[in-house]
Amino acid sequence: MEKAYQALKQYFGYDQFRPLQAEIISSIYEGKDALVLMPTGGGKSVCYQIPAITLPGTCVVVSPLISLMKDQVEGLCGNGVKAAFLNSSNSPKEQRAVEDRFFNGELDLLYVSPEKLISPGFIPFLNSTPINLFAIDEAHCISAWGHDFRPEYTQLHFLKSSFPNVPVVALTATADKLTRTDIVSQLRLQDPAIYIASFDRPNLGLEVRPGQRRLEHIFDFINKRTGQPGIIYCLSRKSTEELAQKLAAKGIKSACYHAGLADVERAKAQEDFIEDRVQVICATIAFGMGIDKSNVRWIIHYNLPKNLESFYQEIGRAGRDGAPADTLLFYSYHDVMVLQEILDKPESENKEIQLAKLDRMRQYAEALVCRRRILLNYFGEDFSDNCGKCDVCRNPPEYFDGTEIAQKALSAVYRLREKVGMQMLIDILRGAGRKELLAYDYHQIKTYGAGRDLSPAEWQQHLSLLLNLGYIEIAHDQHHVLKLTPASRRVLFEGEKCS
Ligand code: ADP
Ligand code: ZN
Repeated sequence: MEKAYQALKQYFGYDQFRPLQAEIISSIYEGKDALVLMPTGGGKSVCYQIPAITLPGTCVVVSPLISLMKDQVEGLCGNGVKAAFLNSSNSPKEQRAVEDRFFNGELDLLYVSPEKLISPGFIPFLNSTPINLFAIDEAHCISAWGHDFRPEYTQLHFLKSSFPNVPVVALTATADKLTRTDIVSQLRLQDPAIYIASFDRPNLGLEVRPGQRRLEHIFDFINKRTGQPGIIYCLSRKSTEELAQKLAAKGIKSACYHAGLADVERAKAQEDFIEDRVQVICATIAFGMGIDKSNVRWIIHYNLPKNLESFYQEIGRAGRDGAPADTLLFYSYHDVMVLQEILDKPESENKEIQLAKLDRMRQYAEALVCRRRILLNYFGEDFSDNCGKCDVCRNPPEYFDGTEIAQKALSAVYRLREKVGMQMLIDILRGAGRKELLAYDYHQIKTYGAGRDLSPAEWQQHLSLLLNLGYIEIAHDQHHVLKLTPASRRVLFEGEKCS
């Protein structure tokens, strides 16, 4: 590890590793496979760059984002690291030059796009020089459960079969439990070490407002933050353009950014924002992947994102320097319907899952409980405190003790051996004698009919709340059945109150 500390100082100028970085690097040194989950800005890159620099041989980094690759490589070269990339943006001459350097063992890091990696003739090419590590960045792209599925990623299992002795490290900022298992099995990771950094970003404020009179709210919000850079995410290209114009008309320096702009326009908008020549960037989700700007002070979501993964990734671009940053989400049911329409097409992939994820997003926006608690529980952390800093915590609704209601629901889930979904559970709690229920003998369980006093709609609400608070979770890969969590077991078996 001494070499690792030296390299951290020499090439990156830091004295200390962040939490988990040293552990991850040392497990790579031991030749182990690893799965790394760290929030955006957590410092994932160092985890493979240090082994790449300090071990003999070259590290091959698979990254789906061409623009990010270029920035990273330029940054590394600027720090004296020998790095290069191969993707569709190379000219044939550049490509040959990079190939020669790789072949001659002159590179510490070679970044490649997944398309390049799976192209014919690439394996023999990789075999031409010793490889010390494969790093799979944005590894959630491998999973159809994820929110950013890329089919080329599913072929990456050949790395393990063709190079059984080279460790593979998979890294991502967003992966629920299912995606995690999928990454491990698809990449054929061998007994991997799994590192999950806390996803909590305590410096980010969280606020949701109803989607009426958004423009007024936005002007007001920005006026209170003179000169502070921020991003406004919109659903459509057109609305990014319109919004940027309206802000400009009020004297707020803004640019728009979306995939329909010419490359030069996009690059200019991005640069102007990074260099603080414009204060606000109005963008579609195309913006922000790999943007290294640490002083973004606020994020507004003009429209509801499709899922909590995207939402968390997008707000994660604020406050990377650790100083306080605000985030504001506008919520309207209209947005939910628009997104449902977009997702609910026969040709859309994993429609059911995407719709379920959208529903979780909606529940988050409508929730009356600590928002940080919802987010962290969604990402699999057992976080049962209220943060005290989100809008709900600062302005709490009137609470009542729901322990008894929770106990009814949770004990039913337990007695049903975690085999039923939300609708069936409600029917059982309400003692609805429907055929399917009787066929499975569900009317024999002790809690059958124990919740007759509440309407189906009330049960819906209570169950959403339990979901949001981390007392139950939905197994989307098992027909959306409800599962217990560590927190629910404490309520059921240790007499803990639900709060
Ligand atoms: P990620 O890939 O997880 O989004 P990066 O690897 O880009 O994050 O790191 C985010 C920022 O944190 C970068 O500016 C990086 O230089 C910085 N960083 C990484 N490791 C350390 C460290 N040990 N100490 C201080 N800063 C670090
Ligand atoms: Zn809170």
